[in-house]
Amino acid sequence: MTARLRAFTTGWLTTERAGLIEGGEGPARIPVVSYLVEHARGTLLFDTGLHPDVRVDVHARIGGLADFFTTELPAGTSVDERSAELTSRVDLVACSHLHFDHCGGNGLLGDVPVLVQRAEWDAAHGGDPTAGYLAHDFDTGQDVRLLDGDHDVFGDGTVVCIPTPGHTAGHQSLRVRTDDAEVVLTGDACYFRESLDTGRLPLFGFDPEQQHRSLDLLRSMEASGSQLVFGHDAEQIPDDEVRSF
Ligand SMILES: [Zn+2]
Repeated sequence: MTARLRAFTTGWLTTERAGLIEGGEGPARIPVVSYLVEHARGTLLFDTGLHPDVRVDVHARIGGLADFFTTELPAGTSVDERSAELTSRVDLVACSHLHFDHCGGNGLLGDVPVLVQRAEWDAAHGGDPTAGYLAHDFDTGQDVRLLDGDHDVFGDGTVVCIPTPGHTAGHQSLRVRTDDAEVVLTGDACYFRESLDTGRLPLFGFDPEQQHRSLDLLRSMEASGSQLVFGHDAEQIPDDEVRSF
């Protein structure tokens, strides 16, 4: 069994490159990316981008984070709008982690289960105001299924959640077997190809040692033939296009 995998942008962020990778200079405009995974047993969205309220009042939606990030979410590019062009059904959502650019659209997708690592859920509700979590993104009333480690989503090894902690306490990546490749959606365990190649980390993160271990895991997956798709790499996900894998 294989799955069909498509990636598309759900907005953009502009921020200081120094925050994204050690030694970075100047501003960086990075894509926010969501992924549609279609399997015979269901359709999954991995990461849901920004909430459209950022169009109206970005400070009300993301608070002090608006001092660090300029958001762009043109009409037609929120996750519900973009996924509706590709599929008539979404059965499941999985989030790499619970930062505002990865789960902001969860509540737009109806009454579907949300897969997230338990460690991430606990961190997001842990009360640390510096951890970058916004409760209105993920306390949506949806059925949250808490994962403890690897999780085989459809029970046949085609789509598997794989913990890659460090950026946040319970970050996970997603491995998807398509007709053509085994693809690993790294999420923010690795922002860019350059992050993997150099080992230079973002300025903020939960645990640098865990981040390096997760980068090593991703390197080993690539060495054994997996294709890596990085969390915010503009080279990989062209503006407004839908990329198939
Ligand atoms: Zn991100």
